[in-house]
Amino acid sequence: MKRTAIYPGTFDPITLGHVDVANRGLKLFDRIVIGVAENPKKEPMFDLATRLKMVRETFAHKPNVEAVSFTGLLVDLAHDQQANAILRGLRAASDFEYEFQMATMNRRLDEKIETCFVMAREDYTFVSSRFIREISDMGGDVSELVPPVVMPYLK
Ligand code: ADP
Repeated sequence: MKRTAIYPGTFDPITLGHVDVANRGLKLFDRIVIGVAENPKKEPMFDLATRLKMVRETFAHKPNVEAVSFTGLLVDLAHDQQANAILRGLRAASDFEYEFQMATMNRRLDEKIETCFVMAREDYTFVSSRFIREISDMGGDVSELVPPVVMPYLK
């Protein structure tokens, strides 16, 4: 049986922290489906189609990493993709509260779907999409923190 995990997020834009989390997920799962959430409440800088495009271009060379966009419930996406796990990344303790609530809520919605957490490489623990957007907006160089395909979009 193929083990599939959904890796959901806003990916506004995708960073090397996200890439590291997905690659670690590949050690545990046969297939990772990156779910790019519309997330209008977060008022993303990039529209959904562009965020999805950046994720797809980043993993173009990895056939076992796919990307889809979604607007509804995460557990519904998991069912559609025949996934029985949700993959998330943890950085500092500050991520924990929100992640704990989300994992618990998703478990209430479907007991069979397990949420798994991995920690990105130490070099990426401070990397967030928000940080990338802010630094890049002020003219700072973020080329070592995002996949090369993202750079033209930031410019
Ligand atoms: P969301 O809006 O759902 O938090 P993000 O795109 O910000 O979406 O993050 C998606 C997931 O990736 C979250 O679990 C987040 O904690 C994780 N993540 C993002 N950046 C990193 C990083 N640098 N190291 C580890 N995990 C990360």
